[in-house]
Amino acid sequence: MKKYAAYLAGEWVDASGGCNAIIDPASGEAVSAVPALTPRHVDAAVRAAQQALARSGWASDARLRADVMLQWAERIEKNVGALARRLTLENGKLLGEAKFEIGNQVNVIRFNAGLARALSGHSHSLGAKVMGVVAREPMGVVAVISPWNWPISLLVRDLAPALAAGNAVLSKPASQTAGVSVEILRLLVECDGLPEGVVGMLTGSGGSVGQAIVEHPGIDMIAFTGDGATGKGIARDAASTVKKVALELGGKSPFVLCADADMDKAVSTLVRFIFLTTCGQICTAPSRLLVESSVKKAVCERLARAIEGIKVGPGLDPASQMGAITTRDQYEKILGFIELGKKEAALVAGGGAVADVDHDKCNFIAPAIFTDMDPRSPLVQEEIFGPVLTVQSFASDEEAVHLANDTPFGLAAGVFTQNLDRAWFLSRGIKAGTVWINNYNRFYAETEVGGYKESGVGRMAGFDGLHEFTQTKHINFDST
Ligand code: NAP
Repeated sequence: MKKYAAYLAGEWVDASGGCNAIIDPASGEAVSAVPALTPRHVDAAVRAAQQALARSGWASDARLRADVMLQWAERIEKNVGALARRLTLENGKLLGEAKFEIGNQVNVIRFNAGLARALSGHSHSLGAKVMGVVAREPMGVVAVISPWNWPISLLVRDLAPALAAGNAVLSKPASQTAGVSVEILRLLVECDGLPEGVVGMLTGSGGSVGQAIVEHPGIDMIAFTGDGATGKGIARDAASTVKKVALELGGKSPFVLCADADMDKAVSTLVRFIFLTTCGQICTAPSRLLVESSVKKAVCERLARAIEGIKVGPGLDPASQMGAITTRDQYEKILGFIELGKKEAALVAGGGAVADVDHDKCNFIAPAIFTDMDPRSPLVQEEIFGPVLTVQSFASDEEAVHLANDTPFGLAAGVFTQNLDRAWFLSRGIKAGTVWINNYNRFYAETEVGGYKESGVGRMAGFDGLHEFTQTKHINFDST
């Protein structure tokens, strides 16, 4: 078991005051331990962050910020293999996916390092002797609270633009993946030129450390990614100190499959992102297949063949095609939905137990596909966050849009068709922050992400992601 320290106010804090163990979901063994910090540590970290902003040139020196971030990217690039292994041990995902997740952050950080130097406001001539300058300034002290499913992507997605914009940032990683998160942060805080106190890593539980962050009057903004219920509570509690809150929450994303689509590509893409990738524990997972009625039977047969024999096993085993469900709570929740599906819907394929594993210790679940459920069923309306797909059919594009929008969520959607008019109609009609046409789950540092409806408020990534971590100030020069 590897022991980690937390980092705050320029110092490493060990676990002598208590620690949280992290359990490998593929073996049931403890693999990491991180300090269980307390609200007292949050307060110390906030004070240090405020002092760092007041006393260092971090907020005003974009070149310094870019330089530090480029060092950070290079250090991650040199350590992808070891970081990916730790990510797999804590999260349960396949090692190849973990390598992709870690490696991709190099690109995201470099993009944001460039943006740091391109951040600009605007000016207006408001009369013969009057000029208005609208400057973009950092928010101040920002807290990034992140989940365990893509823990490094979602940490860096928010941390990199927050730093680029000149903020001090306190990170509260998900407890389940806190060890690998600390390793990523260590590579940052050891970079030359980073002022002490600008970055803090606050390990500990959401109910204690997370709640203290939300309530602390010295924190100016919270960028939260996680479950909708947690997000709603954060928005409510942050209101008492009128903090800015950006929320990236859950989804129940539709995958609209038209009869004219490239079926091979559509089915393999769907299987990849609802089952194989992180076992469907992705906020944008295409968990609802909406298929044109005329091809429903044929598509269900293809899907059944595609999931037959998928090998579920440890992420470090090169033979595994699907890894483990990350937490025991999530494992039990998914099994509950599969039981519900067997009672309330028709099983298309899958839904069986994974053979030859110790189910008391290891969180392995095989894919399950259901159809013929009530559209109001929790199977269709609630985020399952696991390898469970529901299949509904539509007879017209209007009906497809209606079904796509018929949940409280609006995070993402996929549309598969060769017909440009249909692609246009469907993508404009679906209420979601991202719509992929003839592909799925493609993320770029340059393009924004975020939710409609209960999937969130605010935008991350791209230029809007940078601007999210700023506030504007109008300075008016009047020499009349
Ligand atoms: P979660 O339970 O809401 O936890 C997310 C983070 O919030 C963790 O760091 C957690 O700490 C912390 N937390 C818990 N209670 C808190 C509180 N009262 N105050 C402050 N922080 C608190 O979510 P999860 O189970 O880790 O992640 C799965 C969810 O995230 C799914 O709903 C998924 O759709 C969503 N998600 C959304 C996106 C997106 O971009 N829209 C991306 C990925 C995931 P602990 O770990 O210590 O509990």
